[in-house]
Amino acid sequence: MHMAALKACGLTQVYGRLHIRPEELAEAIALLKFNNFIGVNLTIPHKTAVLPLLDVIHPHAKLMGAVNTLAFDEGSLTGFNTDGTGLVRAIAQDFDASLGNLRVLILGAGGGAGRAIALQCALEGCRQIVLVNRTLDKVEALAAEIRQLIPSEKPAPQVFAVSLTDPNLADYVAATDLILQCSSLGMNPEDPSPLNRSLLRRDHCVYDTIYSSRTQLIRDAEGVGARTANGLSMLLHQGALAFEIWFQREAPVDLMQAALLQYRAAK
Ligand code: NAP
Repeated sequence: MHMAALKACGLTQVYGRLHIRPEELAEAIALLKFNNFIGVNLTIPHKTAVLPLLDVIHPHAKLMGAVNTLAFDEGSLTGFNTDGTGLVRAIAQDFDASLGNLRVLILGAGGGAGRAIALQCALEGCRQIVLVNRTLDKVEALAAEIRQLIPSEKPAPQVFAVSLTDPNLADYVAATDLILQCSSLGMNPEDPSPLNRSLLRRDHCVYDTIYSSRTQLIRDAEGVGARTANGLSMLLHQGALAFEIWFQREAPVDLMQAALLQYRAAK
């Protein structure tokens, strides 16, 4: 998708993939800087490991505690996080809805993606945020962080931390507009859904951040007639936002999406 965007904008730069092992990260960053790279996208496990190597951390990335985009600018290295803002655009595109207007329930909120999405929901002004995780401790800490985040003059969201086995889970799901699936359960096509099918309703919007396979959750949601979307749109928009950081111009999102879909179809 980035090559399609570069070509469409008449830019001669090239976007490539590099396999960097954890112990090679510092040396790799130094080499990229030395070789006049404009920017980098990073994925696990580098999203947090890179933080001590940065000259500047954008406030949004600092809040997320993770970076997915780097920009080199006259020898200075800045880290950004476009995952949360990418999701906002994805929800607008897929459900024609503003994230901040929805009551959300986040499955796998204790992981890195779940944390970024939960914080973004709070920043967008969601009035109800239910954090669901297999390991309850992680979301209890995140819920406390979110409650502190919202300035006292703004209406505070109702934030709940619950485990996947919470006896009241059905009530929380019933009072939800948008279910955001952020756990890694589903990456293997045979994985079960983290949510019992009987809890899903026709008027739910269900977004699964996994895009590598059609997950059981998505199949169940489609089965009850709910609106569904997968994480390909989040991937698209986090990439488009990175492009905008690097080149300070609007990204050709439609062309990037077409390239992404073509690439996925060929795989
Ligand atoms: P992570 O930090 O390792 O977190 C994994 C999460 O999944 C945790 O909440 C974990 O719960 C939960 N989990 C793992 N196995 C589980 C199981 N068997 N049953 C229930 N919960 C389970 O991973 P991550 O970086 O957040 O990534 C999570 C997912 O987000 C991945 O599937 C990835 O594809 C997706 N993602 C998509 C995009 C996109 O652009 N679309 C971007 C980033 C991530 P515990 O806390 O209890 O271990």
